[in-house]
Amino acid sequence: MTESFDYFVISKTLQCWYEQNKRELPWRETKDPYAIWISEVILQQTRVNQGYDYYLRFIRRFPNVKALAKASEDDVLKQWQGLGYYSRAHNLHAAAKQIEEIFHGEFPKKYSDILSLKGIGEYTAAAIMSIAYREPFAVIDGNVLRVISRLFMIEEPVNSVRGKKKIAAIAHAILDPQHPEIHNQAIMDFGATLCKPKQPKCNDCPLQVHCLAFAKNVVSEYPVKNKSTKITNRYFHYFHIIHNDHTYLCKREANDIWKNLYEFPLIETSKPSTFIELQNTASFTRLFGANHDILFTHQSHVKHILSHQIIYADFYKVEIPDSENFSLPDKFQKIPAEYITDFPVSRLIHKYMENY
Ligand code: SF4
Repeated sequence: MTESFDYFVISKTLQCWYEQNKRELPWRETKDPYAIWISEVILQQTRVNQGYDYYLRFIRRFPNVKALAKASEDDVLKQWQGLGYYSRAHNLHAAAKQIEEIFHGEFPKKYSDILSLKGIGEYTAAAIMSIAYREPFAVIDGNVLRVISRLFMIEEPVNSVRGKKKIAAIAHAILDPQHPEIHNQAIMDFGATLCKPKQPKCNDCPLQVHCLAFAKNVVSEYPVKNKSTKITNRYFHYFHIIHNDHTYLCKREANDIWKNLYEFPLIETSKPSTFIELQNTASFTRLFGANHDILFTHQSHVKHILSHQIIYADFYKVEIPDSENFSLPDKFQKIPAEYITDFPVSRLIHKYMENY
């Protein structure tokens, strides 16, 4: 590629490829900024196949900003259950309320106004501006970073400020201002399906002749990345209590993973712990006292991987005789066992519930 390389050709090639290969998806049939916003948020950190049904359910349940703003938090989290990264659902809900209150229910049309909404960053704002309003804003997601990093052999790590700046400048330079909505969707789809993280389909690639990494046979070395952040191990011990056809759930209210989702009574330890070790903790005594008639059965041990944490979870079934006078502090809700699935829970708890 030379100084005088015509960016226009890259964009036109991408758009041409897209017209022939684009996936038919419901959010591509609309120019409604609300629907585009929902789809973009669902598809962050989520594969299209998985996000597809969530999108349809979410839009059916909350067809517009007003419906979402008026919904209860539990309802929003329940629709989101299983998608992970629950802060996305909290932010969607909060932003819908902002639109109702600040913008009188009208989805904002200015980039700076969209960017002022809770949880909306440059990527989502650019996607809404370009796809809903056809304004020339280049989107830069993981796919775009990878494609540009390979095409132009960007040496700066894509997760560094300098790398991102450099790629953003190129992304804006190659954007077709006449058709920003097609260009943006084309480059993201191209990255997702052709210029994939592993085993990119270089032999089928219409940009092959323009690709520096391909020309130098170093595709696998791009994108360059800084070493990822440290992973923390956590050890959870959950107690699925059964007493008089009721069980107990508690809302996670701390600023931690799964905020405002429900879970069984939990003891978290700083290292792996056997049941005997757990029994000797103050937390265990606070939950169960010294009652000897309770039957504890270890149900499962699960390794649950999140982006920066690995949760090692043990589930215990706790059977308390009906005649026993048992209760837990107020923060635990006593609920009939058959209503347990009405509560929004993490994917970890949801998987347990499916099996027990
Ligand atoms: S040639 Fe390969 S690495 Fe280069 S843009 Fe095409 S798919 Fe990506």
